[in-house]
Amino acid sequence: MTYPLSLQGKNALIFGVANERSIAWGIAEELHRAGANLAFTYAGEILEKRVKPLAESVGSKFVEPCDVTSDEQIEKVMASYKENFGRLDILIHAVAFADREDLKEHFYTTSRKGFAMAMDISVYSLVAMTRAALPLMEGGDGSILTLSYYGAEKVVSKYNIMGVAKAALEASVRYLANDLGPRGIRVNAISAGPIKTLAASGIGDFRAMLKHHAGTAPLRRNVTQEEVGKAALYLCSPLASGVTGEIMYVDCGYNIMSVAANDKEPAAEV
Ligand code: NAD
Repeated sequence: MTYPLSLQGKNALIFGVANERSIAWGIAEELHRAGANLAFTYAGEILEKRVKPLAESVGSKFVEPCDVTSDEQIEKVMASYKENFGRLDILIHAVAFADREDLKEHFYTTSRKGFAMAMDISVYSLVAMTRAALPLMEGGDGSILTLSYYGAEKVVSKYNIMGVAKAALEASVRYLANDLGPRGIRVNAISAGPIKTLAASGIGDFRAMLKHHAGTAPLRRNVTQEEVGKAALYLCSPLASGVTGEIMYVDCGYNIMSVAANDKEPAAEV
């Protein structure tokens, strides 16, 4: 598929690829098709083996470790990125984590430690990464993108602390958009429908969630990794030059629904 837009000459740094199922990988593939130069980080040695071949498949040699709870590691990645690429145009934040134990039962059982860790990895990391990336993005028309989920806005049973973290993440997008707008840098989020990934496997009853979304969404199916990638491409491209501080749903329309149709009923005649 050829795109009506080109990201030739644009440099993108992507946090959050764990494997080929990662939403970050879906985004990477679309940015690559549009011609962007890609660079990746990974969390932990185990993931290095998975991320390196994926990076190579899109012509990227920049694959560096980064635990986003460490300011030092974030700074190190940015310094190395600067050495290799000079400037940064697109920053993808597709990172989140919560203790499995906190995604099983009730929200009120979340421990202080579990709460702080989920907020640190899933929310503060966006702030820390943005700050460290700023000197590399100055003077351009850069774009920063993160990933959220509907549980930020409405209660999704078992999503618990991640819902609270996503609410804080979405607010952070708006505050960062306000800070960075005068510098010409846009900050947005995609609120994706559920997709079977490594992170999603930690959410209690995830299968039931997939089934419910597919049965309720107007498009009567779940969104794909590729569809999230294409929406990311739009938000990171000049086509979205007037869009910042937005939380864009890419969820087959699930978020607009209140009472779902009974599938046994015939579709309305048009
Ligand atoms: P994934 O497991 O493929 O990606 C999560 C990434 O977070 C992994 O690459 C992991 O290594 C990284 N990570 C976790 N802790 C880290 C740390 N301390 N330092 C650096 N990286 C760390 O799963 P995914 O579903 O692709 O998740 C990507 C983003 O999309 C997350 O923000 C997630 O909340 C969001 N999201 C996912 C869904 C879904 O249904 N899968 C829906 C909406 C939003």
